[in-house]
Amino acid sequence: IPLPARGNVRIEGLTFGYQPERPVLRDIDVNIQAGQMVALVGETGSGKSTLASLVARYYLPDSGSITLDGVPLRQLSSRSLARVVSVVPQQNFLFSGSVLENIIAGRPGATRKDALDAFESLDCQWLIDDLPDGLDTEAGPRGARVSLGQRQLICFARALVADPAVLILDEATSAVDSLTELRIQRSLERLLTDRTSIVIAHRLSTIRNADQILVIDQGQIIQRGRHDEL
Ligand code: ATP
Ligand code: MG
Repeated sequence: IPLPARGNVRIEGLTFGYQPERPVLRDIDVNIQAGQMVALVGETGSGKSTLASLVARYYLPDSGSITLDGVPLRQLSSRSLARVVSVVPQQNFLFSGSVLENIIAGRPGATRKDALDAFESLDCQWLIDDLPDGLDTEAGPRGARVSLGQRQLICFARALVADPAVLILDEATSAVDSLTELRIQRSLERLLTDRTSIVIAHRLSTIRNADQILVIDQGQIIQRGRHDEL
């Protein structure tokens, strides 16, 4: 099977429950064109993270299907899947090790140059200067030695190094100062450019930029459209 490189995501008739008798998602139909950004919004517990987890194949649907460029997700090897779909989780945890190690973990064989290029593409080279030992700064357990905003941007850099056709991002809700917020927003836009992405959105700016907004309520899509249509 060729690697799905374009990133067209199709979800059809998907139903899923952590316990099959209690569905958390019901009859989900979504078609995401390659390069589009979809924003998932909805109340806490509505099923947003669950839907994202299914696209990353952390779980298999009870019924219905998910395909990438027409290839059923379940037919991909874990290795292929890891190359095509990346997830930036909400907590933005880093592992113990240098910032560089955390970034190049995005792709086997990635180099220091790839990490530097990622920061350049994200327009946040300033971050390297802010870190006490630059890319060699020790992140600490779960990234505790770098600030929340820095952690988010480091996770963006890791995702950019991975360069997946499909990026799933659970936007962090942690409060950062407004300058950092602006910088994160701008870097996020750069990360998502020309890439299929599914964003569990908290920022209004992300929702505004989305090609499709899906409003999820109790496991069902109750509304969809662009920001100006809803
Ligand atoms: P939030 O905005 O708070 O992150 P969410 O929309 O992401 O919420 P989900 O995490 O998808 O919501 O949860 C949907 C439902 O599934 C909730 O009722 C939740 O309790 C349940 N749930 C989530 N994860 C699990 C799990 N691992 N095992 C069992 N039930 C779960
Ligand atoms: Mg969630």
